[in-house]
Amino acid sequence: MRVLKFGGTSLANPERFSQAAKLIEKAHLEEQAAGVLSAPAKITNHLVALSEKAALNQPTDTHFNEAIEIFYNIINGLHAENNKFDLAGTKALIDAEFAQIKGLLEEIRQAGKVEDKVKATIDCRGEKLSIAMMKAWFEARGYSVHIVDPVKQLLAQGGYLESSVDIDESTKRVDAKSIGKDKVVLMAGFTACNDKGELVLLGRNGSDYSAACLAACLDASVCEIWTDVDGVYTCDPRLVPDARLLPSLSYREAMELSYFGAKVIHPRTIGPLLPKQIPCVIKNTGNSSAPGSIIDGHVK
Ligand code: ADP
Ligand code: ASP
Ligand code: MG
Repeated sequence: MRVLKFGGTSLANPERFSQAAKLIEKAHLEEQAAGVLSAPAKITNHLVALSEKAALNQPTDTHFNEAIEIFYNIINGLHAENNKFDLAGTKALIDAEFAQIKGLLEEIRQAGKVEDKVKATIDCRGEKLSIAMMKAWFEARGYSVHIVDPVKQLLAQGGYLESSVDIDESTKRVDAKSIGKDKVVLMAGFTACNDKGELVLLGRNGSDYSAACLAACLDASVCEIWTDVDGVYTCDPRLVPDARLLPSLSYREAMELSYFGAKVIHPRTIGPLLPKQIPCVIKNTGNSSAPGSIIDGHVK
């Protein structure tokens, strides 16, 4: 089993979303695949702004409408590419999520504040809808999908906005043996549950960590982080033009780079991979043939 995580920029529009879907499909045909998805780019920021602005009784319509538009654009494009894609069904799911958000925002506006518990349930909706759209994409292609629901199967400890996953208990709940070999596995990033069964988040940028946790639970052969650069560089290649690509790094080097701010992987990504020595590969969705960077236990 290979775990492939796609970040927001890799899911931002129909072209990129479909590229990500095809990479999961290719991996699935080679060796069963599990896709872990972030929200499409900009969505989480809109969702965060919605509850914060509602608590201050500020206008929220622009964030609300722009967020819905991003989803409509993706599903319209996916349907244009394959008319078997369930446009009406996915649109109904998007509308239902946003109708719920609207109700919550009204309550937040009345209360003049937002509890973390409620904020968590709003901020994670982008991931949930990414999974709904990806499931519809695979079903339109005739595949059968197994959804790992992180709000039931990833047990975490900590606060509502930044919790840490209990890998042993989550491994039991994910129960790899119960997943049919033909199934394409999908799981929303960024989310888990606490011991009361309530939804919690894994912190901003936490979908990399979600992927690592799922890789550990499934004892995957690799955890692939698909993003918008060719791999891990000596420093941010968008800020430093002569940054060097690192073809291979040790777990320790990757941890150090991410703790010192290399946003390309979340600092908590390596932890769950270490005990089983699962390699982590960073790849570019827009340049999939580039080798990327491999992070593993070999001291370089
Ligand atoms: P995603 O949406 O796929 O999770 P992120 O924006 O979180 O992507 O991370 C990718 C970005 O990380 C790159 O676009 C790059 O600008 C930034 N980055 C920062 N430091 C590094 C680094 N050392 N190597 C590669 N990318 C880096
Ligand atoms: N969508 C979440 C965020 O923007 C999680 C992630 O993308 O990793 O923080
Ligand atoms: Mg990221």
